[in-house]
Parts: sequence; C-alpha cells; structure tokens
Amino acid sequence: MQVNESLIRNVVAQVLAEVGQAPAVVPSRNHSGRFGVFHDVDEAVVAARHAFEQLSERGMDDRRKIIEHIRRISIDQCVELGTMEMNETKIGRLEHKIDKLKTLGQKTPGVEFMNSSVYSGDRGLAVVEHAPFGVIGAITPVTHSLPTITGNSVSMIAAGNSVVVNPHPSGKKVAAEGVRRFNQAIYEDIGIDNLICVIAEPTIESADQMFHHRDIALICVTGGPAVARAALGCPKRAIVAGPGNPPVVVDETADLDRAARSIILGGAYDNNLLCIAEKEVFVVASVADQLMQAMERAGAVRLNSGEIDRLTTAAIATVGEGADRHDVASRDFLGQDAADLARAAGRSVPEGTELIFGETDESSPFVSVEQMMPFIPFVRCTNVDEAIDKARQYEHGYRHTAIIHSNDIRNLTRMGRVMDTTLFVKNGPCMSALGLGGEGYLSFSIAGPTGEGVTTPMTFTRERRCSMIDDLWILGRQGV
Ligand code: NAD
Repeated sequence: MQVNESLIRNVVAQVLAEVGQAPAVVPSRNHSGRFGVFHDVDEAVVAARHAFEQLSERGMDDRRKIIEHIRRISIDQCVELGTMEMNETKIGRLEHKIDKLKTLGQKTPGVEFMNSSVYSGDRGLAVVEHAPFGVIGAITPVTHSLPTITGNSVSMIAAGNSVVVNPHPSGKKVAAEGVRRFNQAIYEDIGIDNLICVIAEPTIESADQMFHHRDIALICVTGGPAVARAALGCPKRAIVAGPGNPPVVVDETADLDRAARSIILGGAYDNNLLCIAEKEVFVVASVADQLMQAMERAGAVRLNSGEIDRLTTAAIATVGEGADRHDVASRDFLGQDAADLARAAGRSVPEGTELIFGETDESSPFVSVEQMMPFIPFVRCTNVDEAIDKARQYEHGYRHTAIIHSNDIRNLTRMGRVMDTTLFVKNGPCMSALGLGGEGYLSFSIAGPTGEGVTTPMTFTRERRCSMIDDLWILGRQGV
C-alpha cells in the first residue's frame, strides 16, 4: 500500500494543533512544511532537490498550476507585498513596487514559452526537447527583491527546475515572506513544498557556497558589477544579468515632446532603480534648449549649475584607492524621491515631482555612474555622431540598454550598430523594450555578459535530442 506521507503529517499536525500541543505544521525529514525558508544553504539545496525530483514526476499541467499560484499571489497581494518591500528596502516608489509585482505576475513567460523542434527525413526522426537543469542557484538585487524572485521562479519552474535564492540582505524579509506564501499555496494544492527556497540570512559567504555547491546545476545572478564578476569566475555555468548605465541620444529630427515624456516615464520609474532606466542624455546642441523646455512642460524640474554641484557633493561618493578609486552613488540617495534630491541641492520642489534634471558636461559623475536616483544629466553635443560616440563611451561596454529618439533612419541604424546592446529602444521609454508599451516579453533578469538576453523558461533548460533511425517518418516512402 502506498502511504501518503504529507497527508499523514498534516492530519497529525492538525490534531496536535487542535489540542494546543504543536505548531500547525510539522517539518518532515524531507523538509515539507518549511515553505522554502532556510538558514543553511546545504539544507535548502537538499529540500530544493527533493522538490525538483517530485516535480519531475508530474506533467506540464502541474507546472501550470504551480505558476498560477505564483502569479495569483503576486497580483492579488501586490499592495501588501509591495508595501512590505518598500518599508524594508526604503528605496524606490511605493506605487511602482506594487506595479512591478503585478506586472511580473501577469507577464513573466511561463510554460507557453517551452517548445521542441523536429528533424525528419529518409533516415527517420530526431526530436529536440528542452529538459530542466535541476536545482538553480539565484542571486537577486535589492532594487527588485520579490519581483525578481517572482519572475525567476515562474520561468525556472516552467522549465521544470527548482530554485534556491540568495536575496540581497536589505530585501531578505520580503523575499522570505513572498517565498513562504508561494510555497504554502503550491503545497496545499499539489503537495510539493520547497520548489522555491530562500536563504533567510543571506551573506556573501552563502552566495559563495551556492557558487560551489555540488548539487546546484546552474547559477543565475541579477546584480551589479561585483556579483557579476564573482559569477563569471564561478566554476559552474552562470547566467549573468549585470549592471547597465543606459544612455539616451536625442537628435534634431526627434519628436521632442515625445522624447521628454519618455525620458520622464522611464527615468523616474521606481526612482530610477531599473537597470534599463534612462541614466544620462546626449542631445544635439541645435535642439538642446527645446528638449529641456519640453522636459519642463512635461513636469520635470530643471536644476541650475550651482544646484547640480551641491547635489553632486551630497549624492556621489568616492571609494577605493589608487587605480581602483572611482565614483559611486551614495547609499543615502539611491532610489530616493526627486523632492529629497532637490532639497539636497538647495531647491524646493513639489513633493510629487517625478524627475529632476539639468545640463552638465560629460565629466559630471552623474554621466559615468549608474546613479539609480531620479536626477538625469543632459550633455550638449555638436552633432549626432558625437552624441552616439559619447553614449558608447559612458555605457562602459556593458552592452545592456541604449535608447535613441530620432526619425532619421541612418542615425537609428548607426546607433544600434555602435552600441551593440542587448536592448536598443527607439522612440519610447526604456520599459517599452520589455513589452510594457512596446512589443516583446518581460523579465527582470536581462543577461548581457553571458548572452542569454531577456531570460525566458528556455534559458533555464538543457537541450536533449531523441533520435529514431529509419522509422517513424510517416511521410516517407510507402511500402517500407
Ligand atoms: P548588488 O550588486 O549590490 O547586489 C546584487 C546581489 O548580489 C545581492 O543579492 C548581493 O547580496 C549580492 N552580492 C553583491 N556582491 C557580491 C559578491 N561579491 N559575491 C556574491 N554576491 C554578491 O546590486 P543591487 O544594488 O542589489 O542591484 C542593483 C544592480 O543590479 C545594478 O547594477 C543594476 O543594473 C543591476 N541589475 C541588473 C539587472 C539585469 O537584468 N541585468 C536587473 C536588475 C538589477
């Protein structure tokens, strides 16, 4: 007789809970009832491995059901979880924390992105299918703690994997709470726990343990330069979604009002925390004044040079020694409201102001640093070629995202070729490249350095080929 272990455990737990002697959930040998929250990497990997093996025995319908729970919780509980993320991380804007969870829940590619291919001919049939890796180790950023976990989980589970997440320490609580909710719903419906595991007290050491863990088959890192470098040096295959510093070029043929509205929409979203967000503008001199007037018409506030100097002193720090010495965004200003930045610049602006901006030259640290705050520097360029060349220089070779506003097909083409970025947006805000106001699909892990691009379930698969020799090609010669 087959014994349903989880059913028995739950009945026992319920009886004990009713007589007031035990918590409602009793952890088992296989970690059911932990709902994915672990302090120890080894333990998390064992639990995730067990979950992966259970998932491997189920069909695509169960993967669909699992993903439906993740989507439903992200959408229905976006206000509560988004507020939790805002209160914990203290960066960005509440309305966008909420919006990101909802959007990731709605639009992350799921099982519908899985596909197979077939080669048929005289010598039979070959079917190429896409299998899971097993347990994936994911590192997630503070800029979108739970949204990245939501997106990664949907795509990774759609491909048949389980995942262990090492979140950013400053977003660990919302990460654990979201993961707990996802797992509990999945467990109650289909009886598999711990498909998504999270390290409750994440550290660089726990990330490093994941990089070297024997039972983690693949790494997916979403973060800045240090973690991207660490992942690229890791002994196993890593999918690296690294930093960006997206430049915007505006030429003399652009629709300037449309360009201004787009720069505000993308650059102000979540106080400029998106890795794809507009970070600096290179504008052709003949339309520079008109573009800045259009920015003001669209609601952005322009700082003068004295105010920009004060903001720079307050919001940009210098770190490192000798050749390593470089500017970085100060933690105190990262993702803060435009009104707070303006205050530091000595200027009072209405509280709801979305974006502040101002003219600088290219030596401003706001041009070279991935500032992740809603102040955007505008640099005047002699012509479009100079603007594109500067855009390339200050994108730093990340090949992440670049944006142009132009109606000249040659300029659009030249910039696309020169930048060589994963995302190249023409005449819209950055997020339109992720299907939000443009065509395409969404992920918050955009893998530039390792080349996978906007990740989908297929990113997290191994290709397998099944070959039948001489038979099963039903279109073949008759009488064989
Ligand atoms: P971060 O690099 O400080 O942290 C990212 C994650 O890496 C965190 O979990 C952190 O704890 C961990 N980490 C940092 N250094 C590490 C190391 N040496 N070894 C192991 N783990 C380490 O970045 P952040 O501030 O959380 O996020 C913002 C950065 O992430 C920006 O640079 C942004 O461009 C990038 N980002 C990229 C994408 C993308 O899809 N390409 C998406 C979101 C964010």
